[in-house]
Amino acid sequence: MNPANKRKLEIIVVGTGLAGASAAASLAELGYKVKAFCFQDSPRRAHSIAAQGGINAAKNYQNDGDSIYRLFYDTIKGGDYRAREGNVHRLAEVSVNIIDQCVAQGVPFAREYGGLLSNRSFGGTQVQRTFYAAGQTGQQLLIGAYQALERQVALGNIKMYSRHEMLDIVKIDGKCRGIIVRDLVSGLLERHSAHAVLLCTGGYGTVFYLSTNAMGCNATAIWKAHKKGAYFGNPCFTQIHPTCIPVVGAHQSKLTLMSESLRNDGRIWVPKEKGDTRRANEIPDEERDYFLERRYPAFGNLVPRDVASRAAKERCDAGYGVGTSKHAVYLDYEDAIKRFGLTEAGKHGMGNANEDTIVKFGKQVIKEKYGNLFDMYEKITGENPYETPMRIYPAVHYTMGGLWVDYELMSTIKGLYVLGEANFSDHGANRLGASALMQGLADGYFVIPYTIGSYLADEILNPLVPTNHEAFDDAEKKVSSRIDQLMNIKGSEPVSNFHRRLGKIMWHKCGMARNAQGLQEAIKELRELKDEFWRDVRIPGDRNEMNPELDKAQRLADLLELGELMCIDALDRNESAGGHFREEYQTPDGEALRRDDEFMYVAAWEYVSDHQWQLHKEELKYEEVKPTQRSYK
Ligand SMILES: Cc1cc2nc3c(=O)[nH]c(=O)nc-3n(C[C@H](O)[C@H](O)[C@H](O)COP(=O)(O)OP(=O)(O)OC[C@H]3O[C@@H](n4cnc5c(N)ncnc54)[C@H](O)[C@@H]3O)c2cc1C
Repeated sequence: MNPANKRKLEIIVVGTGLAGASAAASLAELGYKVKAFCFQDSPRRAHSIAAQGGINAAKNYQNDGDSIYRLFYDTIKGGDYRAREGNVHRLAEVSVNIIDQCVAQGVPFAREYGGLLSNRSFGGTQVQRTFYAAGQTGQQLLIGAYQALERQVALGNIKMYSRHEMLDIVKIDGKCRGIIVRDLVSGLLERHSAHAVLLCTGGYGTVFYLSTNAMGCNATAIWKAHKKGAYFGNPCFTQIHPTCIPVVGAHQSKLTLMSESLRNDGRIWVPKEKGDTRRANEIPDEERDYFLERRYPAFGNLVPRDVASRAAKERCDAGYGVGTSKHAVYLDYEDAIKRFGLTEAGKHGMGNANEDTIVKFGKQVIKEKYGNLFDMYEKITGENPYETPMRIYPAVHYTMGGLWVDYELMSTIKGLYVLGEANFSDHGANRLGASALMQGLADGYFVIPYTIGSYLADEILNPLVPTNHEAFDDAEKKVSSRIDQLMNIKGSEPVSNFHRRLGKIMWHKCGMARNAQGLQEAIKELRELKDEFWRDVRIPGDRNEMNPELDKAQRLADLLELGELMCIDALDRNESAGGHFREEYQTPDGEALRRDDEFMYVAAWEYVSDHQWQLHKEELKYEEVKPTQRSYK
């Protein structure tokens, strides 16, 4: 499409995390008129900022045999053969461009002494392809994308709406033509029209209440689109991250991730003796069970997240867990400190340095590589991880499921695109570490700028639909009456209580391990909880003012429904694959047992009515990679 035509077309981008900010900036750069929305007070506060460990790219800077094919292959295998080959190959191809783009923006990736970009390893790979900026990669990448976005804001090509929450899409003749948003400061509803709408609204891990996600993360945008006709892909595929600070009590409202990068050098273990009450430092090496190294000698501590999480759960369930809860395992840096210390002593010409000197040097190296993560752990737990091993346990972290999209990232509603964690694409049943940032930025910088043109080329002659069109009236009326309904309940139980109860059901019955009976119970319990919520939730204040409790209630109402669909999907998928572990389907040594003959498909759910969904199956065809039983041994 020629640039003069692009200027006639308007695009709404909901979400300004890595996916949204990169998309908005790139589209505006091409000449489209863009409106961008986020519910935080600044685009820079998107949850992407929390990403710690890094971003993958097949640059092969380490000369360790990496290639586009290898990244593609690792991602397909890591996702347990439940991702679309074409999408994943494209992702691997553009991964290299992302790094160049970000370096050009000034993102301060870690560098080697000679100035080349540095890499480390993440799970599920045997090469070093993860680019990083200390333990704050997401923050640095987001600053890069944000400055590109702000440049376009300054040029007048993007109009930014912070503190605005999208509460519905507007659909006319099968096409998405705009959105209804609520100004979270005034509480007033607004209508915005566009030729196309992009949802870049992140994941829905907060359906479990406790997760490593920011508390504000929610599913409202994609859920509203789902209820208007966008299919939901693989809703039950959830990632549980193995290295999080364990739950300590009911007062917690979120959990903290300890980056996967820590598994590069840390070793995970539990005592060999059941119920051992000795402190970690008192347990000699030969009495420790480095269970990942024992079970998976080839990948060791760097097995993918689903495998590492289940192995930790298995040890804790068998009675070998540590800490007061006994639901924790150790992540230990003692060996790494000594290893790095020896090298450093050598560099200083101190071949016969004593143990204290070696440890001192080693700690300095660890501080340089992981200092901010170690500080964070100490602040939260009060324990010094340089001296005693960290205690970690798996926690909900990422949702592979999301709105179904085609190769061009368009949902089943024409003109409605979905990018980043909000879509289902690319990661199959398990996402490899450092691949979410890669996917979000691939979608925003490199995919959507190309694909959106095929749809918009037919829109050149179509003027923007005026916001007084009856479809806008109707959508706004529905949003408004739902707010009234919520405000009029005037019940007795705060929103967060319901959220906590939702999380408990989801974690225990649709979490790290699932079975048919538990899922059936969960569906029933979720329906009851939803009824109770609509009878008894208490929302103080008014609707036409800043009212965070109302914001939370609206989001929770959607999560309650999404939770039910996740359980239905998990019940329907009678196999184990990646993060979806059905206890009934496992190999004799406890690994996920896929059933390719029946389940080699993407489950795309269509909303029919309350509690009713229709399943559509997108068959997965593997032409390049031969699906096998995943092995990291
Ligand atoms: C603690 C942590 C560490 C991580 N570390 C890594 C890592 O090292 N490497 C890696 O690859 N991945 C990592 N991830 C995953 C990765 O950070 C996310 O998957 C990714 O950042 C998601 O980006 P996004 O742009 O899709 O969504 P987000 O960054 O979540 O942005 C969502 C945007 O949508 C907006 N929004 C949402 N709903 C609405 C609505 N209804 N109306 C208006 N606006 C809305 C929000 O305001 C926000 O701007 C990590 C995740 C966590 C939790």
